[in-house]
Amino acid sequence: SQLEGGNTYHFYSAKNASYFINTLLQETSLRHALKSSEFEVYYQPQIEIKTGKMIGAEALVRWNHPERGRVSPGEFIPMAEEMGLIAPLGEWVLETACRQAQTWQRAGLPPLRVAVNVSARQFERKNFTERVREILTETGLDPKYLELELTESLVLQDEIAAAKAFTVWRDLGIRIAIDDFGTGYSSLSYPKRFPFDAIKIDKSFIRDIADDRQNAAITVAIIQMAHCMNMRVVAEGVENEQELDFLCDRECDEIQGYFFSQPLPRAEFEALLKSDKCW
Ligand code: C2E
Ligand code: CA
Ligand code: CA
Ligand code: CA
Repeated sequence: SQLEGGNTYHFYSAKNASYFINTLLQETSLRHALKSSEFEVYYQPQIEIKTGKMIGAEALVRWNHPERGRVSPGEFIPMAEEMGLIAPLGEWVLETACRQAQTWQRAGLPPLRVAVNVSARQFERKNFTERVREILTETGLDPKYLELELTESLVLQDEIAAAKAFTVWRDLGIRIAIDDFGTGYSSLSYPKRFPFDAIKIDKSFIRDIADDRQNAAITVAIIQMAHCMNMRVVAEGVENEQELDFLCDRECDEIQGYFFSQPLPRAEFEALLKSDKCW
């Protein structure tokens, strides 16, 4: 192949992709990739059903690797976690998203909440709660425009630490969403024990929701439970009109998915935000 002649990439490409990525991460180091701007934050619109307006955006990281092209976060996030590199990467995403949201607001665009994913390994770090506060101070973003998306494994791995962090974030005005709800080994009681602002229904439950009676039942139950507890419900992975109609009828609050928009690079997302589009 083109990569022959002392280049080890050829050898690794014969093995599985994660081994390749793992090796590259080790070789180049995450810091290098961050410095050389190989990472990029994409933004996916979150639409409020009631108004048809975009009220938020989820920040989703992309890796534009010089040899491999676009590497999906599903591949490199677990790797970064394993290698203890998720903290600097996650902080970079958080800071980038907060700074961007603040820049848009200063430019007079409609205020937007940014949702940032936090991995369990990132949350474990002792100073994480403090870093969030520092990033908000540094970027000047009003904390009410930040939502942190946490998974249940993060919450359940250390409930005491989670409760402490939530109290700090709540006092600051940061919102907390529980991500991928229902996909783990969840106990239904944990949303009762923690003060979440929103529940995100995983896309696996949204698929074919108009025809799939089991997915429909689960989704309806989650929406009812969330509303009883004064939480918003965000459905992800909405790909067509049937899914949207179903979710509108069942009074889901917010929608995210390819039906509206893929995650977009900054400039494209900005154009959408400027257009003040109403769905
Ligand atoms: P997630 O948090 O569940 O994010 C939603 C995923 O669904 C994203 O995949 C998004 O692009 C995709 N998606 C959105 N709409 C649709 C749709 O209509 N149909 C389908 N089939 N998919 C849709 P993505 O961007 O590849 O990210 C995958 C996962 O990687 C995320 O899942 C999240 O767990 C993780 N991730 C991404 N960025 C970050 C980050 O900055 N930090 C951390 N810790 N994790 C991240
Ligand atoms: Ca998420
Ligand atoms: Ca997730
Ligand atoms: Ca998900």
